Amino acid sequence: MAQVWWIRRDARLHDNPALIAAIEAGGPVLPLFIVDPAFPRSPFFSERRWAFLLDVLRSLDADLRARGSRLIVRRGDPSSVIGALRAEGLAETVFTQADVSPLGRARERAVAEVAPLRALQGLTVRPPDVVHKQDGDPYTVFTPYGRAWRNLPLPTAGDVLPAPERIPSPGDLDDGELPANPEYRHADRFPASEAGARARLTAFADGPIQDYAAGRNQLDTSMTSSLSPYFRFGLLSAREAAVAALQARRRARSDEARRGADTWLNELIWREFYAQILYHFPRVRGASFRPEYDRVQWRDDPDGLAAWQEGRTGYPVVDAAMRQLRETGWIHNRARMIVASFLVKDLLIDWRAGERWFMAHLLDGDPGSNNGGWQWTAGTGTDAAPYFRIFNPITQSKKFDPEGAFIRRHVPELRAVPVDYLHEPWKMPDAVQAEAGCRIGRDYPGPIVDHGAARQRTLDAYAAAREDS
Ligand code: FAD
Repeated sequence: MAQVWWIRRDARLHDNPALIAAIEAGGPVLPLFIVDPAFPRSPFFSERRWAFLLDVLRSLDADLRARGSRLIVRRGDPSSVIGALRAEGLAETVFTQADVSPLGRARERAVAEVAPLRALQGLTVRPPDVVHKQDGDPYTVFTPYGRAWRNLPLPTAGDVLPAPERIPSPGDLDDGELPANPEYRHADRFPASEAGARARLTAFADGPIQDYAAGRNQLDTSMTSSLSPYFRFGLLSAREAAVAALQARRRARSDEARRGADTWLNELIWREFYAQILYHFPRVRGASFRPEYDRVQWRDDPDGLAAWQEGRTGYPVVDAAMRQLRETGWIHNRARMIVASFLVKDLLIDWRAGERWFMAHLLDGDPGSNNGGWQWTAGTGTDAAPYFRIFNPITQSKKFDPEGAFIRRHVPELRAVPVDYLHEPWKMPDAVQAEAGCRIGRDYPGPIVDHGAARQRTLDAYAAAREDS
């Protein structure tokens, strides 16, 4: 009988505790991916992410073959598939990386009913129940969580498990087949392989991390790591990334470089924070973390929602980001905050509509971080973004895309608009519109909402929800 390595969000050979435990248990190892018919039925399913994952699995199969193994694919719900493998005498113990999402955990429980299951940690550096308050309760505010996270022994290079040189073959059984990719434009920016992910981490930790603290908010440059799709499917271990940040900190020759490494590690800790929030408070998937905000009277505005989704709100920075999202499946953190604030605070549309749209389009769409980001922006979540903090899309645009390079890249109709008007093109005099070949209302929309009035409307709606509680 073989040990099953049930692959879910750990499509990697390096630093993979579940894979190593399966090998150490002895005997053949069966690297199993289950194509679950429940995937496309989830409201958070994304064809783009699915296509990316299929490419990732093909690349993992090649890596496995280079080590004497191969990917085995089965279709069905996990407990039936694993139950059938057991009935055929093909599966002994199932090893998998423990998940934090309600769906992932439900799948683990179902499989544990039909086979011995060992769910090993690996999604995050700190398992979700390890960093907690003195009384054992989970942290619900980031700063003390981050402090407690750092106060535990920090990972070192010695903790990172090397990729096994050989993996015992699963033996003579049908490989099964991955489904064909759905049609979508693959973002060339994200090669779907473990080697690609690792090369990107090394390149980032050897250089750009030093300027991360100062540059990470700029929309017009690429100063962040662009590693999130790899964390999403575990092509990269969080522990290895944290070790790379700590090593970069030790190598740093200036305060700025040290600050860069510290700040980047802090972002990795945000990811861990939201993973443990989802683990301890699965209700956040459908409801506000702060229940009083489920009383906000959201507007039913299909036209506004469509304008936001399609990048035609009339606010250039919002439109640039929303078009980039649809085109490439990735947007910058600052852009995520700006567009999320616009949907929730300018249009007063329920943050859950935005959460779903992001999950449908983001390559890195992650149940914990996406929900956390939306609830943070909406002011309904765990942390300290108070409901009355409302991003001004014009000020944000001027500050984080001062020359308009980001806007021009994604909103071609504004390419010739002079920078003085680029952030508020509706202010262009007629002659400038004619010169720029961009007539507001014809070539590019006027603003669909007045920011000042919308801001007040939102403050009133949130205040009413708080009064009712
Ligand atoms: P870097 O700046 O290089 O950061 C390194 C890593 O740290 C990221 O890859 C990510 O894993 C983690 N990280 C960075 N910032 C955050 C953060 N604020 N919260 C949690 N983790 C963070 N991130 C996702 O991975 N998936 C999502 O679905 C997602 N949805 C978001 C939705 C909203 C509304 C907001 C405001 C943020 C969201 N984020 C999400 C967080 C963040 O925007 C992305 O992780 C980041 O932009 C990815 O780019 P990067 O890899 O270059 O990040």
